[in-house]
Amino acid sequence: MSFTLHGIPVSRGIAIGRAYLIAPAALDVDHYLVEPTQIESEVERFRVAQGVVHQELDTLRADLAADAPSEMGAFINVHTMILNDQMLVQETIDLIRTRRYNVEWALTEQLERLSRHFDDIEDEYLRERKADIQQVVERVLKALAGANGSVLPNGQHGSCSEMIVVAHDIAPADMMQFKGQTFQGFVTDLGGRTSHTAIVARSLGIPAAVGVQQASALIRQDDLIIVDGDSGIVIVDPAPIVLEEYSYRQSEKALEQRKLQRLKFSPTQTLDGTRIELCANIELPDDAQQALEAGATGIGLFRTEFLFMNHKHHLPEEEEQFVAYKRAVELMNGMPVTIRTIDVGADKPLDALSGGDGYETAPNPALGLRAIRWSLSEPQMFLTQLRAILRASAFGSLKILVPMLAHAQEIDQTLDLIREAKRQLDDAGLSYDPNVRVGAMIEIPAAAIALPLFLKRLDFLSIGTNDLIQYTLAIDRADNSVAHLYDPLHPAVLHLIAFTLREAKRANVPVSVCGEMAGDPALTRLLLGMGLTEFSMHPSQLLVVKQEILRSNLKTLEKPTAEVLAACEPDEIQAALKRVTGV
Ligand code: PEP
Ligand code: MG
Repeated sequence: MSFTLHGIPVSRGIAIGRAYLIAPAALDVDHYLVEPTQIESEVERFRVAQGVVHQELDTLRADLAADAPSEMGAFINVHTMILNDQMLVQETIDLIRTRRYNVEWALTEQLERLSRHFDDIEDEYLRERKADIQQVVERVLKALAGANGSVLPNGQHGSCSEMIVVAHDIAPADMMQFKGQTFQGFVTDLGGRTSHTAIVARSLGIPAAVGVQQASALIRQDDLIIVDGDSGIVIVDPAPIVLEEYSYRQSEKALEQRKLQRLKFSPTQTLDGTRIELCANIELPDDAQQALEAGATGIGLFRTEFLFMNHKHHLPEEEEQFVAYKRAVELMNGMPVTIRTIDVGADKPLDALSGGDGYETAPNPALGLRAIRWSLSEPQMFLTQLRAILRASAFGSLKILVPMLAHAQEIDQTLDLIREAKRQLDDAGLSYDPNVRVGAMIEIPAAAIALPLFLKRLDFLSIGTNDLIQYTLAIDRADNSVAHLYDPLHPAVLHLIAFTLREAKRANVPVSVCGEMAGDPALTRLLLGMGLTEFSMHPSQLLVVKQEILRSNLKTLEKPTAEVLAACEPDEIQAALKRVTGV
């Protein structure tokens, strides 16, 4: 049966493929029948996973501190007993042998049967043992999925290039696992247009829709689906005529993309000859390659926190960081690389700090110990990062960018720590660029309004529109329930951006925009009209924005841009914006 779901478009294009569902919870597993000849190897798969969990429990027991409460040891013993219990083991194997269920299915089926028995037990203590059985089953399922808990498919479902990933939510760190894979598209139940998951999806340059509410509940494994990344529509099991229409649109878009490639080597300037810098946003050093291929003239934002994610037990050491930063600098071969210091918190928790479960415990993480606030609270870790960045500055053109600054004392403390890092490198006899420039993200409204604090202290600014919108409008950028209120064209947002661009220009301080607005071709002319000459965006957006720039004349943008800024009502803003974009 065909049906359509609606979400938020985050990455343009049309994807047509088979759904690959990522289970939201360990117990939501694939169900399939194994071939009769494969039954014994399926039983063996179960035995191997059982052995892995045995070892895990033995290690846990051995690592128990001498003064650990005695319940801890008892608890591990109970889990070991459950793991060997015939009610779990033999019955699961029987289900594999008699019904040909895959192990995961057999195991969860047997768990369900046992749970039903427990629900009928009156004794509360015994009833609670149900949770223990569930935990043991989860451990075995994890072992079956592989030790690293990868979210990537294991080859059972065909080639990645035909798949569209469907998930309840994907953490930005997990999203990184998809880099280097060739999926057709992404669909998630949760998320907003500028959530970091959406940003990483966009960087992969494949169609994606987020906030598609019930997608992961309604779409089944292997369903044929269409993702329209321009409108956020997801069509499940499309009728042949619909499939034909979308296949046609897909080939038209591929043609457009090929045409855009022709712009790669032309200089980026407006019709009246103003030179515009187009830089790239990257998450990992090797992304610089993609930036070069798209014709970027520098890296405007290297989100270094992605290097720190997926580190389960400790953060990367100075040497490891240095190698990563140096690689980006060397790949860019003399072009500027703007390295942003770690921006953790909110929707980018660090596994190494959260005990590996990936969840923030702060009451309101977006307003909590995020970005520079976290770095200043962990000066040794911050100094490690600063030393690594500074050392990389000896190998090319490097700038340091600091996220989420709002207060004068935060800027001063940061600059002090940079001086301290330089002193430490001097003492160690390690080289760096002594004149390395330091800039601030303007992404908290307070920073834009109190701009003189920043203009006086820093060498350059970069406007982070994603957070600027979030904090100006008090809209969580990752929360799809308020996504309709996340509005880059709200007059308050436009005023803060225009004011920052104007004042920085007046003070002769270079300023760029590195939020997602910079990569939206519908807003290119408006930003040009406000005086922006340096854009930074995902490489996949670069050529379509360049096309807009090549067709723009700054002189003719002045008046309609002033009209957009003078307007307050949404319809007046839209009408004036049409005069800016000329459509
Ligand atoms: C921003 O806030 O606009 C930005 C570029 O930083 P991030 O998206 O990483 O928060
Ligand atoms: Mg930000």
